Amino acid sequence: MEAIHLKTVDPVGQALLRLASVQGLELSWDRFEALQPQDGFVRTGLSCAFGCMQGPCRIDPFGRGAKAGVCGLDRDGMVAANLLRLCLDGAIESGADAAPAAAAMLRRPQASVTAMLRLALRLAEGVVAKAQDGSGSHAFEVGYGILAPAPAIGVAGTIAADTAAGLAGTRAVSLGSWALVNGALLPFACTSGEAELTLVSQRISTLVAGPDADPGLLALARRLGIPLGLEGSRQPHPAAPASDAGIEAGQVGKGVVHFGAEAVAGALKGNRKPIALFGGFDTPHQSLGWLPTEVAPALMGDGCTVVAWGDAALWMAKAGLADGAHESPAVLVGPQAGAVQVVQAAGSGGIKGACFAGLRDSRDVALALGLALHGVRVLVATPLPVWGSKAVMATLKDVLAASGGSLTQVDKPIGADEIRAWFNE
Ligand code: SF4
Repeated sequence: MEAIHLKTVDPVGQALLRLASVQGLELSWDRFEALQPQDGFVRTGLSCAFGCMQGPCRIDPFGRGAKAGVCGLDRDGMVAANLLRLCLDGAIESGADAAPAAAAMLRRPQASVTAMLRLALRLAEGVVAKAQDGSGSHAFEVGYGILAPAPAIGVAGTIAADTAAGLAGTRAVSLGSWALVNGALLPFACTSGEAELTLVSQRISTLVAGPDADPGLLALARRLGIPLGLEGSRQPHPAAPASDAGIEAGQVGKGVVHFGAEAVAGALKGNRKPIALFGGFDTPHQSLGWLPTEVAPALMGDGCTVVAWGDAALWMAKAGLADGAHESPAVLVGPQAGAVQVVQAAGSGGIKGACFAGLRDSRDVALALGLALHGVRVLVATPLPVWGSKAVMATLKDVLAASGGSLTQVDKPIGADEIRAWFNE
């Protein structure tokens, strides 16, 4: 608990963390700590990603142990295959062509490092081409204070259209998912990384979760006796218990998010400043909210228009940085496709850089690579699994440089000052 500020910057979130600790509730941070140190082979790309049952094989990152897999695959091939696997997963996830060629290439080692990387980049391009997450501009509110008047139905993950329709006329809030009900964006009680904390507040009367909601969230709801599903939402709301977490005093921020190429282009019309793209999803590697609320004002002060997506956009709205009343408000765009639409609207020449503060899934990896292929300077602020091969990193650098872009990678999560310095290089 002494490191509570390292988990989230939100004072209400910190109070909820204390409440969870007193009640003996296990949260994602507890699981994250129990998992340390996380697998260094996977982290460096040196755990084999081929669909081969003769392993599992791993190569020692320091060269003291195994130097090749059973089949003789070396570290460069293993790292390249990992990147190809991530891009293939991202392509499937985003509905882009699944590239049977990639699946075939990942059965057993058969292709060169260069061939695997070229195919990975082709898949990344496909993910960029398919990027779409809605249309129109939607005003929203975000913050724990939304739960102050009364308990609400909490919505987590991606819910189906008929589930969303069933929520019409109810008091529902989002636990970090971008859900439209009756054409309006649900107000956000929190960002995606704070969803478990919000259950601890006892202000969520029912949890309606999509299939991609975290299992830990569902387990916590069961432990707390929170009904699951729309059926549960028809039960009477319990009275809000007295809370010592400060929900009543929780801030409520405002913002407008622009979905789709037309709305994004409209939001950037007339912009003359260099654009700093800053976004991504909450990650336990950093204190939630720290990077968006530190980096965005600094970049605004440096004369940039900050454009944000994902949880980073929600944190900026929570901090009042996206409110129309702010002298230089951040422009908020769709949670994953938004960054692509900004590049389409402004051109890579109008973009100072694009920083992914945290990656959620393999589609984010493909998007980061795809933006770099479109000539954008890209920074990923948490490590990608490529550090096991200097050859892979060098080849990627050369290929991306030929398209006018770059992908800066880090070997450990980096801080706000380093990100600001990178934007200003
Ligand atoms: S492809 Fe080679 S390195 Fe990978 S699991 Fe099979 S034998 Fe091991």
